[in-house]
Amino acid sequence: MPSLVFPPSPAAFDFRSDTITTPTPDMVEAMATASFGDDVFREDATTQALEARISAMLSHKAGLFVPSGTMSNQLAMRVHLLQPPHSVLCDFRAHLAQYEAGGVASLSGAMLQRVVPQNGRYLTVEDIQKAAFIDDGGVHSAPTRVISLENTLGGVITPLEEVRRIREFARKHGIKLHLDGARLWNVAVAGAGTLEEYGSLCDSVSVCFSKGLGAPIGSCLVGSEEFTKRARWVRQSIGGGMRQTGLIAAAALTALDQVYPKLSATHDIAKDLAQHFAGLGVKTTLPVDTSMVFLDIQGAGLQMSWLKEAATKRGVRFGSAGRIVVHHQIDPRAVQALKDTFSEVVDLKAKGFYKGGDGGDVGGYGGMARL
Ligand SMILES: *Cc1c(COP(=O)(O)O)cnc(C)c1O
Repeated sequence: MPSLVFPPSPAAFDFRSDTITTPTPDMVEAMATASFGDDVFREDATTQALEARISAMLSHKAGLFVPSGTMSNQLAMRVHLLQPPHSVLCDFRAHLAQYEAGGVASLSGAMLQRVVPQNGRYLTVEDIQKAAFIDDGGVHSAPTRVISLENTLGGVITPLEEVRRIREFARKHGIKLHLDGARLWNVAVAGAGTLEEYGSLCDSVSVCFSKGLGAPIGSCLVGSEEFTKRARWVRQSIGGGMRQTGLIAAAALTALDQVYPKLSATHDIAKDLAQHFAGLGVKTTLPVDTSMVFLDIQGAGLQMSWLKEAATKRGVRFGSAGRIVVHHQIDPRAVQALKDTFSEVVDLKAKGFYKGGDGGDVGGYGGMARL
């Protein structure tokens, strides 16, 4: 059998996102020995093992393996929402609102209520109380039927206690609570609460294997038996029923076993980076609770073009809005290269090397910190 050669991951010097990790040799080996049942017929053992494991971890009855986090969120909305008029409340920066191609409007016919968190970090029950449309029997509003939280959002943790308060509010008004937990793994390893604790407070939870855990493909949506049954049905209607999913479910299981236990190291690196940048006078626009660092490039009087040039020279990449995401395949030399990039640019600026004014890109999430 020809042997697979694994060069160092091309993601080793790439801080743009935790989605760009590549499958590890162990993941590929697990794929080669996975079961090959047909998941639309519900005959794949590996996929069912993954669904059972994830739903148990999140304290729910059933799980559904789906190709992406976007599909997972969209199925959750489609199942929770019955018929218009209705609306979904979420943070204005939420993936659901910003990066899902308007799916909530086209697939569920719902209005989105995009709320700005007053604390500049995460939604609180007070923010939600102020914004929610409670069904009062009148005809003017589209009542809030779902609150969709995202944890982490921008790497920032919504504390368990806040989710408890939101849960109470939602229950009182008959509103469903969905959690977009693409990076809920990071919340758990940061010690803010267990997956079970967060999961049990919500009617549905979506988690991704292709972010911090480093699997190539896949997300899981969990909820009650009834909820998951309907989600499976809707999944089929939008072409999300897949056949030999054991291949990708096996990689996700390996990611859970092997990468998840190492995830907290990415938080340590992110904090170390933020400290280095602070020492150079480059501040963060959001607290570094987990693996993400959002830099206020403009506030530091720097321009992305200067940084990009210095970074390219060292073969290191990061996000264009000053976003840095640490993932499990980051090489220690890349961490040093990124620090050196910023040190050099700050030094050159101080020496008057750069011509032209300051300004340039606004920090991540449209300068959230300036709220
Ligand atoms: C990445 C992400 C998603 C969607 O993931 P895809 O698999 O890329 O569709 C959903 N929610 C959040 C918070 C994400 O970061």
